[in-house]
Amino acid sequence: MASKHYDLIIIGGGPVGMSLSLALRNSGLSVLLLEARGAPEKKEDPRPLAFSHGSRLILQRLGVWESLPKISLITAIHISNRGGFGRTVLTACEVGVPALGYVVAHHDVFRAMHERLQDCRIDYLTEAQVIRLESDVTEGRGEFRHNGVIKQVTANLLVLADGGRLTGQVEGITQHVHDYEQWAIVARIETSLPQCGTAYERFTSDGPVAFLPLDKYFSLVWSVSPSAAQEILSLDDVTFLARLHHQFGDRLGKFIGASKRSGFPLALKYAEPTTACRVALIGNAAQTLHPVAGQGFNLGLRDAWELSGEIIIMPSEVGSPTMLSKYRDKRQTDSGAGRIFTDSLVKLFSNDDILLRGVCGIGLSALDCLPSAKRFVAKRMMFGSRG
Ligand SMILES: Cc1cc2nc3c(=O)[nH]c(=O)nc-3n(C[C@H](O)[C@H](O)[C@H](O)COP(=O)(O)OP(=O)(O)OC[C@H]3O[C@@H](n4cnc5c(N)ncnc54)[C@H](O)[C@@H]3O)c2cc1C
Repeated sequence: MASKHYDLIIIGGGPVGMSLSLALRNSGLSVLLLEARGAPEKKEDPRPLAFSHGSRLILQRLGVWESLPKISLITAIHISNRGGFGRTVLTACEVGVPALGYVVAHHDVFRAMHERLQDCRIDYLTEAQVIRLESDVTEGRGEFRHNGVIKQVTANLLVLADGGRLTGQVEGITQHVHDYEQWAIVARIETSLPQCGTAYERFTSDGPVAFLPLDKYFSLVWSVSPSAAQEILSLDDVTFLARLHHQFGDRLGKFIGASKRSGFPLALKYAEPTTACRVALIGNAAQTLHPVAGQGFNLGLRDAWELSGEIIIMPSEVGSPTMLSKYRDKRQTDSGAGRIFTDSLVKLFSNDDILLRGVCGIGLSALDCLPSAKRFVAKRMMFGSRG
């Protein structure tokens, strides 16, 4: 049976794969988006997503921003070092923007993108798992299972937005993996003091603890060792909240309620290079980062946006070596900087070395006294390496 041919096949309908599909909705190209899971399974992802101001601009262009039901503004970021001195506060006023970032529930982003895709001329299949792929200079080929039937498709370009699960099948790409030996515990936390738009990042020797303002609550991302994660996930709510309070301190008053907890193992993964013959990697497939600075999706969204730009400028060149090398070169600095930034934060701050923690404390205090350095850091967090 002849396989259907597309200009582009996007493998993985997570937030980054869906963003690329939406960016190409008016391109006139034939696009197939394949997502392994069923739509309802993805509607309950407990993770928060902190968006930068730059990501907001992209999501507005994708027609997604207006459909997000609850968007909480981050007007200040409070960064501190547990058991040591040094802290800094970045504010939106100092940078001259309405907000340093925005927090949205992952499942709200999924729902908004999923619904937006229904109105687009994109072939979008859920419960469609790609099981095999290969490519050569002429085309990319994929095999997927859908409704119990195995189907074959070909395209000028295969885009891997699958979080890196299929990278091993792509010839010429190496995936580097560094296990942080940390898990992120995620939950919604109710505090006695109201959230007023401040996000908190507290570095501890076990890993960072982040509180992101979301609706009337805080969304917690607490990094701990794998064994502590198993224990924390099994605690009753009262004991869990007491332990969290002990770790974070009194800054938010009492912790009075918690939603169901979930755990995510954390590793740094990145692909080198991020393109191969008729293949491009975007989002977590290209780089999976520690959530410490909320950079992962922001970076992935920029991958999708820049790739769509290259495709739209040269529609007849989709998947050609020239187009792929332009995409790869454009993303190299931003991706590398995001990786080094988050990896250094985790390694510098998550340790017991008193000297190193002292140096980090001095760094935070120095940053607090230097408005131009604060603006530099804030702009990189909002717009990536190009600031
Ligand atoms: C605890 C935590 C908190 C985070 N907080 C933030 C934050 O505040 N800000 C931020 O920017 N980032 C954050 N991130 C990172 C962010 O969640 C990821 O960067 C983002 O989800 C990546 O999206 P993606 O679409 O590239 O990959 P994924 O979300 O992994 O999606 C990949 C999709 O591909 C599908 N798939 C896999 N294999 C196949 C296959 N064989 N066939 C078809 N489909 C397949 C999967 O079902 C999945 O839907 C956080 C991450 C964690 C763990």
